[in-house]
Amino acid sequence: MKYISILGSTGSIGRSTLDVVSQHPELFRVAALAAGSNIKLLEDQIHTFRPEVVAVYNDASAEELKKKNLPAEILAGEQGLAAVASFDKSDMVVSAIVGSPGLLPTYEAIKAGKDIALANKEALVMAGKLIMEEASSRGVSIIPVDSEHSAVFQCLHGRDMKEVKKVILTASGGSLRTRSAAELENITPAEALKHPNWDMGRKITIDSATLMNKGLEVIEARWLFDVPADRIGVILHPQSIVHSMVEFVDSSVIAQMSLPDMRGPISYALSYPDRLGDVLPALDLAAIQELTFEEPDHGKYPCLSLAFEALRAGGTMPCVLNAANEVAVDAFLNERIALTGIHRVVSRIMESHSVEDYSTVEEVMEASDRARKETEEIIMEKIKI
Ligand code: MG
Repeated sequence: MKYISILGSTGSIGRSTLDVVSQHPELFRVAALAAGSNIKLLEDQIHTFRPEVVAVYNDASAEELKKKNLPAEILAGEQGLAAVASFDKSDMVVSAIVGSPGLLPTYEAIKAGKDIALANKEALVMAGKLIMEEASSRGVSIIPVDSEHSAVFQCLHGRDMKEVKKVILTASGGSLRTRSAAELENITPAEALKHPNWDMGRKITIDSATLMNKGLEVIEARWLFDVPADRIGVILHPQSIVHSMVEFVDSSVIAQMSLPDMRGPISYALSYPDRLGDVLPALDLAAIQELTFEEPDHGKYPCLSLAFEALRAGGTMPCVLNAANEVAVDAFLNERIALTGIHRVVSRIMESHSVEDYSTVEEVMEASDRARKETEEIIMEKIKI
């Protein structure tokens, strides 16, 4: 029996994880759950999965949940998250909080020696060096849940990185792939939120449309697989059937395929190194007929280039890129800036940032907070104009 704690249990990945757990009660049990503020769903999850400890990030929501006399200890705030992350009865922590708030609890879980099923890419984008060093010194396995990284992980299975020429991440191209660069100026949040293949949260859906999501995944791949930026490629693949590929030194390429459904990578991370049966519907390639690939147009997707730039600059730059993007995406969703304003804002923040090295998670959070504040200021200024 594997005991699992989930950071971000009411989000898209958290719900899919609980789906997998409920299909295999003989293999998995929920030890602890943490969520932001969706206490209605959290309450249902407590009744169904009976975790011992539950953390609610929002203090007022935690108080409300406490009044309901549920069969779990209810904790609040950052301390609550840390307690769930390091809960002694869990064997594995599913890190599925969206965005930069996922960094600290993921780090706590690693320090507590928990194996990590990693869906939160920001922990590696912001503090990849620290996270990987800490995991290696504590003998913690980090198993990717992000579909592309899960694919690479599956393709690499048992191979030596010396045999790898290139890691190739696929990108669907998101909701706006067929729109021209000029059309992107006037896209509304509602249009950008319609992803053709994946049903995901709002922030990641916008990041998919700008390809910033792919950029963050390039940085994530750099740390997970210890490959430099010039050996990571990105290719557009609108059908989202090939989830990523590894090219070996003999130019042979291994790709991982399945229907696009997060239960695939989640199951693999939970059951690794085994595979579970009946996870996804069968892949019928004859019915799909066509798999296509194209080079991404960096002119249309400047966010992808910005991410490569940040990775090459190193230090705090990827963290600053991520912080600026989070604020800018939020501003776009609230119709304060255009979709194309996102890359302009991120680029300006990166230009004014002088790269620093980091050795603690506090330094990383400080750089992130500072960049968020500066981004907010730039967006405010723009409104005044
Ligand atoms: Mg992904």
